[in-house]
Amino acid sequence: MKNIAVIGSGFAGLTSAIELASLGYQVTVFEKNSTAGGRARNFKTNGFTFDMGPSWYWMPDVFEKFFNKHDKKIEDYYKLVKLDPGFSVIYSKNDQIKVPASFDKLVDIFEKIENGSGEKLKKFINKAEKKYKIGMDSLVYKPSHSALEFINLKVLKGLFHLNVFSNFRSYVKKYFSNSKLTRLMEFPILFLGATPQNTPALYSLMNYSGLHQGTYYPIGGFHEIIVALSKLASEKGVVINYNSVVENISVSNNKVDNITVNGDQFEFDGVVAAADYHHVEQVLIDKKYRNYNSEYWEKREMAPSSLLFYVGVDKKLKNVHHHNLFFDEDFDQHAKEIYDEPNWPKNPLFYLSCPSITDATIAPEGKENLMFLIPLAPGLNDTNKMREKYFNVVLERLKKLTGNDIKSNIVYKKSYCVNDFMKDYNAFKGNAYGLANTLRQTAIFKPAMRNININNLYYTGQLTVPGPGVPPSIISGQIVAQEIDKQLKKAS
Ligand SMILES: Cc1cc2nc3c(=O)[nH]c(=O)nc-3n(C[C@H](O)[C@H](O)[C@H](O)COP(=O)(O)OP(=O)(O)OC[C@H]3O[C@@H](n4cnc5c(N)ncnc54)[C@H](O)[C@@H]3O)c2cc1C
Repeated sequence: MKNIAVIGSGFAGLTSAIELASLGYQVTVFEKNSTAGGRARNFKTNGFTFDMGPSWYWMPDVFEKFFNKHDKKIEDYYKLVKLDPGFSVIYSKNDQIKVPASFDKLVDIFEKIENGSGEKLKKFINKAEKKYKIGMDSLVYKPSHSALEFINLKVLKGLFHLNVFSNFRSYVKKYFSNSKLTRLMEFPILFLGATPQNTPALYSLMNYSGLHQGTYYPIGGFHEIIVALSKLASEKGVVINYNSVVENISVSNNKVDNITVNGDQFEFDGVVAAADYHHVEQVLIDKKYRNYNSEYWEKREMAPSSLLFYVGVDKKLKNVHHHNLFFDEDFDQHAKEIYDEPNWPKNPLFYLSCPSITDATIAPEGKENLMFLIPLAPGLNDTNKMREKYFNVVLERLKKLTGNDIKSNIVYKKSYCVNDFMKDYNAFKGNAYGLANTLRQTAIFKPAMRNININNLYYTGQLTVPGPGVPPSIISGQIVAQEIDKQLKKAS
C-alpha cells in the first residue's frame, strides 16, 4: 500500500485525505495546530462556542455531493437548517432588507423598491443558475493544467451565457439602478475577495446560490463540518497528527525524498501540500524546486485579511438576524482601502454574525454569541491600539443602527487579525481568503496544482484551483487526490 502525507487539516487537507484513503492509500495528515479545521477552527470558552472563520453555508450541493460520494449523508454527521431570513443588509437606521428564504418573496421585495426589478431579478437569477450548472458540471472540478480541459461542447454552447469577459458591476447595473439593490447584488463578491469592477460577471453564479438556493447553518456551528470530515477520515483509516509542524520537504531525483516533522524525518510515496501555497513553496522547499519566486507572489492580488472580534454578551439582541451586513458606508471607498491604496479603512463596512439567534447550543441561556468581521488589506501593521479603535467603531455603529448598546454587557471578547493569520496558518501577508478571483487569477492563471520540478508533490486549498471559500476548498481536495493518484499510478 502506497503512503501519502497531507500537510494541513483544513477543508482541502481533510477532503483530499478522505479521497486518497478511498482510492486505497495509507494517508497521514500533519497539522501544526492542536485541532483540525485551519481557518474553520472553533474555540469554546465561558459556555460559548465561537466559530473562528467561515459562517456562510452556501452551495449546499457541493457538501452533499462530497458526502454522497462516500456513501454518507450530511444527516449522518450534522443537522443542517435553512435560515429565514437568510441574511439581512443594513443600510441605515430602520432601513434594512431581510433576504427571505423564499425566492418569490424576494422578488416582491425587489419590486417594491424598484419598479420592474422583480422580473429582472428572476431573469438575473435564471441566468446565474445556468452559469452555476455549467460551472459545476464543466468548469470547477478541473485541475486547470491547460485551457484545453475547458473546451467541450457544454462549455462552448454555454459560452454565451457565462459572461467571462464582462465585469460584475456593469453586469449588475444592466438589471438594477436602485443603489440598495445593486449593493445587495454585489455583496457575494466579498466572498471572492475582489472589487465588483475587477470580478468577471461569471461569478454572478454566487447570487444564484445565496439568493435562490439559500443560506444554511449546521447546528453546533460551522466547525461541525470539520468534525464530520475528521470523523469520516478516521472511518477511512486516515491518521491525523496534531501539533505536528512540517518544517522541510527534502527532494532527490525530482521526487520528495522525505519530510521533516517536528525534527523527525518521514518517507512517503507522495505529498499533498494543503497548507498555504506560498508558505510551502517559500519556506519548506529549496529554491530550485519552486514553481514561483517571491516576485511572483508580490504581484498577486490577494483577497482581504480580516479583523475579527469574538464577543459574548449577557443579554439577547434586538433588530439583528443571524447574518447582518452593515452596508451603511461607501463600499467603493472601503474597497479602495483594501485593494488600491492598502490602509486601515476610514469608515469600513462590516459583518456581524449572531448564530445564537438560531442555535441555543453555542451560548448560555439568555446570552448572545457574536462575531464581528471587518475586511482589511492583507499585510497591514496590526497593533492592539488599531484593533481597539475598530472595536469601538463597530460597537458605536451597532448601537446607532440597531439600538443595541452592548458595551456594558460584554462577558467575553477576543480579537483576531493579520498577525494571528500569519502565526496560526503561515498565511502570506496574513490573508484570510487566499487569492482574489480576478480574471487574471482564474483557472489556468492560478498557482498550479502540481509542482513542475517534483513529480510527487501537489498543492491544494484556497490558493490554487478552483479558489477561495469552503466549497471550492472541498472541490480542490477532490481534484488533487485524482491528480496525485494518476501520477503515482503512471510512475509505478
Ligand atoms: C474570517 C474568515 C471568514 C470566512 N468566511 C467564509 C464563509 O462564510 N464561507 C465560506 O465558504 N468561506 C469562508 N472563508 C474562507 C474559507 O474559510 C477558506 O477558503 C477555507 O477554509 C480554506 O481552507 P484550506 O484547507 O484551503 O486552508 P486552511 O483552512 O487554512 O488549512 C490549512 C492548514 O494548514 C496548516 N498548516 C500551515 N502550515 C503548516 C505546516 N508547516 N505544517 C503543518 N500544518 C500547517 C494550518 O494550520 C491549517 O490548518 C472565510 C475565511 C476566513 C478566514
